[in-house]
Amino acid sequence: MHWPPRTDDVARLIDTLRWVVERSPYYRRVLDGAGVRIADLRTYDDVRRRVPRTAKVDLVENQRAHPPFGEFLAVPREEFGSLHTSPGPILIPRLASERGGTPVLASSIRAMGVRPGDVAHVTLSYHIMPGGLRLHRAFEEAGCLVLNGGTGNSRLQVELARAWGATVYAGTPSFLANLGDTARELGLDPRRDLTYRVGFSTAEALTPALRRDLEDTFGIELFDHCGEAQIGPLAGECRAHEGMHLHARDLFCEFLDPETGEPVEAGGTGELVATQLGPRALPLVRYAPGDVFRLLSGACPCGDPAPRVVFVGQVGAIRKIKGVLVHPAQVHRALSEFPDVARFQIVVDHPEGERYDRAVLRAGVSTPPEDPTALVRAIAERVKAVALVGMDVELVGANDLPEGAAAPRFADVMVDRRKKS
Ligand SMILES: [Zn+2]
Repeated sequence: MHWPPRTDDVARLIDTLRWVVERSPYYRRVLDGAGVRIADLRTYDDVRRRVPRTAKVDLVENQRAHPPFGEFLAVPREEFGSLHTSPGPILIPRLASERGGTPVLASSIRAMGVRPGDVAHVTLSYHIMPGGLRLHRAFEEAGCLVLNGGTGNSRLQVELARAWGATVYAGTPSFLANLGDTARELGLDPRRDLTYRVGFSTAEALTPALRRDLEDTFGIELFDHCGEAQIGPLAGECRAHEGMHLHARDLFCEFLDPETGEPVEAGGTGELVATQLGPRALPLVRYAPGDVFRLLSGACPCGDPAPRVVFVGQVGAIRKIKGVLVHPAQVHRALSEFPDVARFQIVVDHPEGERYDRAVLRAGVSTPPEDPTALVRAIAERVKAVALVGMDVELVGANDLPEGAAAPRFADVMVDRRKKS
């Protein structure tokens, strides 16, 4: 997949839309309702301007109204090869020919420097949800010996990883931290007695502080990876660790300005809208899970031409400040380096007669700092580096901010006092 899309990407997209509309009652109705005939679609802009988006709630509601699979289905049940469930709950049937994101994972695994013969320890759940099984298959494809660890049983998992000399960890960063604690409880040294070399971190945010902590504990090189429940794996870090390469191949990915819906160029921040390419049991067209990414510009030192993205956060809480889209999760990531800052609030204002917005970051400290001036300066620098926008930093008591002014929901973080034009 290229961004901006190339002619061959657009041709594949329009071929897929034709296949879907012939078979899926839901999409036939939606496109009829919007007055769209596939024969009239020629360019990417035709598709972007005319084909409606699909929200997660559309899929959930339609499956609820027409159980079990809803009207999205494009094939009869006899053709299903497998069936997955994702939170919602949403039922995702697949054709036997659908590889469910395995090729994307295999590309990411190779970019991490995993080699045939590595011993991969997979600790995502193998039950009901697709994650564990999908990773397992991808590591098998990469020529690894794969341990199906699954979740929980951390003592047994440490013993297994040690006995088999596991060289690759794959799972959430928090479970890796748990394995480190468990190893120490068993009287082991995670660096000496465990042999992890590569860590595939997924399904949770990998903050810079957590990454450093885990790399220190295990002597491991961690790689961030992201995906989405319905459309599967998307992007992963290479050894340059400068953003995640978009490895998705059977997805047409669009990155659109959350406010204007216009395509975003490298350097900008855009909401992901994805269409699954090729025949699918349950096709998704212009599916918008609400995930916002920053697109990095320039070539990656690793030589892989695939576009690079950095996950920013969910679209609901995002605000444009001084022309830059800012998500509370970015600021949270910057603040995670300051353990004393528990809650935070961003107050945006546009003072009368001024040219620019003013943003004040109210950082809630749990204990008064020894050197407030130095702390204010350090926070301002860090936030500017991560969120790419300057803010005036003000220290307040953590209890002076509402409970919702914190991760993971960020409900009370953004306070927008600008007049709506
Ligand atoms: Zn790279």
